[in-house]
Amino acid sequence: MNTIIIGAGISGLVAAQELKRQGTDFVIIEKSNRAGGRIASEKIEGFTCDVGFQLLNPAYPAARSQLNLKSLGLQAFDRGATVWHQGKQITLADPTRAPHNAGGLLHTLKGQDARAALEFLRVPSEITLADALDKSQFSPLMNRTIRTFLAAVVADEKLSCSVKFARDLMKYFVLGSPSLPAQGMEAIVKQLLEGVKESIRFNTAVEKINEAPAGVEVVCSDGSTLTANRVIVAADPLASSYLTGINKPATGALTTWWFATSTRPTESRYLHLDLSGQPLFNHTAVVSNIAPSYAPLGKHLVEVSATGLRNDDPQQIAARSAQILGADNADDWKLLTTHHIEHALPIIGADSNPVPKNNKMTLAGDIRHASIQGALASGRKAAN
Ligand SMILES: Cc1cc2nc3c(=O)[nH]c(=O)nc-3n(C[C@H](O)[C@H](O)[C@H](O)COP(=O)(O)OP(=O)(O)OC[C@H]3O[C@@H](n4cnc5c(N)ncnc54)[C@H](O)[C@@H]3O)c2cc1C
Repeated sequence: MNTIIIGAGISGLVAAQELKRQGTDFVIIEKSNRAGGRIASEKIEGFTCDVGFQLLNPAYPAARSQLNLKSLGLQAFDRGATVWHQGKQITLADPTRAPHNAGGLLHTLKGQDARAALEFLRVPSEITLADALDKSQFSPLMNRTIRTFLAAVVADEKLSCSVKFARDLMKYFVLGSPSLPAQGMEAIVKQLLEGVKESIRFNTAVEKINEAPAGVEVVCSDGSTLTANRVIVAADPLASSYLTGINKPATGALTTWWFATSTRPTESRYLHLDLSGQPLFNHTAVVSNIAPSYAPLGKHLVEVSATGLRNDDPQQIAARSAQILGADNADDWKLLTTHHIEHALPIIGADSNPVPKNNKMTLAGDIRHASIQGALASGRKAAN
């Protein structure tokens, strides 16, 4: 055996696709009974609920090179956001894409915010995102908008990731429109599984990696031991740190509530941010306005997402979401499911673990760049 890949998330699947292309033999060892790791979609009463709301940005270079974006049938959100501030909606749109809404963004990006944006690009890369925003001095409205939005993107209310990582993510928001595949986020996984599914050994966890004279030895939970020339560790960040011995990264949690409604709460195709004094969540959106295939005909699907593991009363969540979306009420809203994802994303600090250099063991996964871009790019690099 040439290569053992640990983990059938998207990073492991991309590594497998690359090895297949090269004609190198490999096996993927996957702990669970399915591929895709943190990308999954559930079908509930005809609705598609991604397991934790997430988006694919088609500007990710690794998505462009590793995925067939056309066949995913991507449906893009409108660029910008609508914020709920002092009891009213303000739409901060990208003026190049939505000239009718340009007033909101131009209003807030003039003067202080234009200077702050320049300062944000100049602050030293080693400081945290929170410190960078403090130093940049955006206006109070823009400051809260950016913090609320990015906290959900990095799964950390404290914004303790490095500003370098945040700036890199923000670059993609400028370059592309975050989108949903017509058949749900899991369509990405289905695409990456083509031609490599038969090489996955499911329901088997790797417990230990040992050096062996001719390469590596991998000890599995079913008592078997596999040997190969090398191993690609593409597990989630906590499992990867356990298996490779690198420092355990901090991780952030996310909660998503999914509601079905029979009246359309709003025509809006924006993410709506809750900037009220006591926000119950970070954002909400009528997902079926963007991707109608996520809901059965005549029905609508609303997502509400918050950082952390949250156990709020879904009725309260629905009522606040309806309010900030500008809907009459949430009387006919039905909770479909709630997803609590404890280790949604690793928090990428400035002092993140250096990737160990070892020609028998390569680390993949989103441990260095907490995103689909990071996972896809790492899988490809590890295989080459
Ligand atoms: C709620 C949520 C929202 C997100 N939003 C976005 C977004 O909007 N945009 C974006 O770009 N990214 C987003 N992400 C991040 C993105 O989904 C991840 O970066 C990416 O899926 C990570 O893929 P991976 O292959 O590195 O890891 P994983 O998906 O974690 O895959 C690792 C695999 O390894 C397996 N495994 C673990 N331990 C072992 C072991 N010992 N032996 C064998 N197998 C093992 C696991 O079962 C899993 O299948 C979000 C993530 C979550 C959870």
